Amino acid sequence: MPPRDAPNMTVSGDVHGIRLALEQARAAAAKGEVPVGAVLADAQGRVIAMGRNAPIAARDPAAHAEIRALRAAARRLGNYRLDGCTLYVTLEPCAMCAGAVLHARVRRVVYGARDPKAGAAGSVLDVLGDARLNHQTAVTPGVLASECGALLREFFRPRRSNASPLREDALRTPDAAFADLPDWPWPPQYLADLPALAGLRMHVIDTGPAAAPLAWLLLHDSPAWSWQFRHLIAALAAAGQRVIAPDLIGFGRSDKPKRAAAHSLAWHAQTLRELADRLNLRRAVLAGCGLGGRLAQTLPVSAPECDARRYGGLLLIEAGHDGASDAAHAAPFPDAGHRAALRAAPRLWRESQSALDAARAFWQDGARPVLTQACDLSSPAQAYALADAASRYFAPIPSGTPS
Ligand SMILES: [Zn+2]
Repeated sequence: MPPRDAPNMTVSGDVHGIRLALEQARAAAAKGEVPVGAVLADAQGRVIAMGRNAPIAARDPAAHAEIRALRAAARRLGNYRLDGCTLYVTLEPCAMCAGAVLHARVRRVVYGARDPKAGAAGSVLDVLGDARLNHQTAVTPGVLASECGALLREFFRPRRSNASPLREDALRTPDAAFADLPDWPWPPQYLADLPALAGLRMHVIDTGPAAAPLAWLLLHDSPAWSWQFRHLIAALAAAGQRVIAPDLIGFGRSDKPKRAAAHSLAWHAQTLRELADRLNLRRAVLAGCGLGGRLAQTLPVSAPECDARRYGGLLLIEAGHDGASDAAHAAPFPDAGHRAALRAAPRLWRESQSALDAARAFWQDGARPVLTQACDLSSPAQAYALADAASRYFAPIPSGTPS
């Protein structure tokens, strides 16, 4: 029985084999999987099986294109030995797949793009050609390499920048508004797959080493956005700290629901909890000013299931007006449509009142240091002084390890 999607197909050469594998890779990309495809043909060139990458959908770390093709072929032939077969795959096999190729006694592997990070057919390891093993498989590399590589690059590029479609009930400030931002060297970083975001794209600066002594979650005020922390981010990062500075939904480079009513303090807190979850923060310093300070204070008590171990300290910044660049402050909010969150802010502030008592009890139990400090965030000198003082103040927090 031929594969359902490839009845009676014959591979007429290496280029043709990789072309067929590329179709599988594109099908994987369409499902949101890393685009890698594989085709297995017998000694006569007849297609026995095809496979495409599917670890996400299959919830299976082994669901690589090659493994899936090998399994399907073995089922079809009723034999795990695939003697005489050729495997065509768009990307150099990894160690796992190369191992499976050896176990299946595949005669030859033809691949497209090299994988300089994980390739086990000569790039990082040479599993297929290692004479110490009891079997070797011939390898033909680089067939349609640029086409196969381009598909992978194309797949990864949009995820780094702005692939997420814009929801109909939201606005997105054009990138041009953020050109030439002063004192802002960080490329945009986006998240759109947190459940609470429901498809909205959130901008989050995450800089510094993951194993830094402390992680700082900086929450901006309204009307403001993460640019408010530009000097503090630089200062903390220079001190070797990890800094996470999100733009709350409706602010900065994050998507902006058109209706002010879309905003609630509980929802913002939920997005932040999911963000902390995603980044696996432990005993982080919550820092904020104004509305962001209120969020920082109340976040650990804003939901019953909230993991209090994530938060090891609280830094409340009394920031005053940042007169450095009104244009940069206003960049994300070009018209009334983009300002719904600013209109909602006074209500969010009122909503935060009810959680304050519980928050005070949480922070005043003595287990977690709290620091309130005035700082003109537009002054690099003051931002560096704050970073220095706060880093020393919070240094006793055993960060990075669950308590
Ligand atoms: Zn693999």
